[in-house]
Amino acid sequence: MSQDEAVISTNDDATACKRFAVQLGYWSDGYIQHFAKLGERKTPEINRGYYARVKGMHTLLDQFLAKTECNCQVVNLGAGFDSLFWLLKEESLAPKLFVEVDFASVTGRKCYNIRQCSCLLLRNRRKLQEAFSPDDGLKIEGSEAHSKHYHLLAVDLREVDTLERKLKEIGIDKSLPTVFITECVLIYMEPEHSAAIINWAGTNFKNAVFINYEQVNMQDRFGQIMIQNLRGRNCELLGANACPDLESHKQRFLSNNWDEAEVLDMMSIYNSLPIDDRARIERIEFLDEVDLLHQLLSHYCISWAVNDASQLGKFVKHF
Ligand code: SAM
Repeated sequence: MSQDEAVISTNDDATACKRFAVQLGYWSDGYIQHFAKLGERKTPEINRGYYARVKGMHTLLDQFLAKTECNCQVVNLGAGFDSLFWLLKEESLAPKLFVEVDFASVTGRKCYNIRQCSCLLLRNRRKLQEAFSPDDGLKIEGSEAHSKHYHLLAVDLREVDTLERKLKEIGIDKSLPTVFITECVLIYMEPEHSAAIINWAGTNFKNAVFINYEQVNMQDRFGQIMIQNLRGRNCELLGANACPDLESHKQRFLSNNWDEAEVLDMMSIYNSLPIDDRARIERIEFLDEVDLLHQLLSHYCISWAVNDASQLGKFVKHF
C-alpha cells in the first residue's frame, strides 16, 4: 500500500468509528450510515473520544454560523465521508457555500454514494425535503459534484495552487466570512504542506476562522503506541508531522498569517462538555479503565484561529 493509499484509508476508519458511535446513540446522524457499513465493535474510550471530537468541532462551527447568521462559506479540507453538509441542511443552518475537498478516490466514492442513495438527496429525511432543489442544479461528474451551494472537489491538498484555482472556478468569495475545517487531516501531511495550507487560508481570507482537530504530544510512550497502531502507515513520518505540544499548534497559526489562535486538548474539551450531556453518554457504555480514556484524550486537541476578530468576535472556550 502506498503512503497516499494508507492516508486515504484513514477515512474508512473515521467513518466506521463515527457510524458505530452513532449506532450506539452517542449523537444522532441519519446520514453517516449511507457512507459506511456497520463495522466491528469499537471500545468505549474510542466512542467517547469520537463524541468529544464531533461535539467539539460542531460547537465551534455552530458559534461561527450563529455569528455570521449563515451568511458565510464552509470549506471542509480532507472532508472524507463527513455528513456535516446534510446535518446542517437538516437543521436549516446551511451556509451560502459549502465546499468539501479530498483526494479524487475519496470524492469519487462520495459522489457514487450521493448518486446511489436517495436519502443523501434529501435534507430532511422525515419531511422528505430535498437537499438539492432543482434550482441548485446538482451535477455529479466523475469524482466531483457541483451545485449552487455545495461542491465536492478532488484536490490533493499539498497542491495549494490547484486548490486556489478550483475554489476560484466555483466562485468562492474571499471577502465573505469563511470557516476552514481540517478534522484529523493535517497530521497526514509533512509540516511544510500543512503550514502552506494554513498560510494560504490566512493570507487570502481576512474574515475567517480555521478549526483544526489533530494529534498532539506524540512523543511519550502512549503517543508512540498510538502511532504504531496506525496500521500500515508510515509511523516515523506521522510522528515527525505531529505538532509536539499545544503551544506549537497555536504558533503554527500565528506564524502563518492568522491574527489569533487558541488550542485545547481533548481532555479539557471533554471536561467542559455540558454535565447532562456527559452523564448521558457515560451511561451508554461502561468504561472500565478511565485512565485509558484520559490518555487517549490528552493526545488530541482542537486548535482554532481567527482573522478579523473585530467582526467575528471571540470564540468561547466553553463547549
Ligand atoms: N475529516 C474527515 C473526518 O474527520 O471524518 C476524514 C478524516 S480522515 C482521518 C483524513 C482525511 O484527510 C482522508 O479523507 C484523507 O483522504 C484526507 N487527506 C489527507 N491528506 C490529504 C491530501 N493531501 N489531499 C486531500 N485529502 C487528504
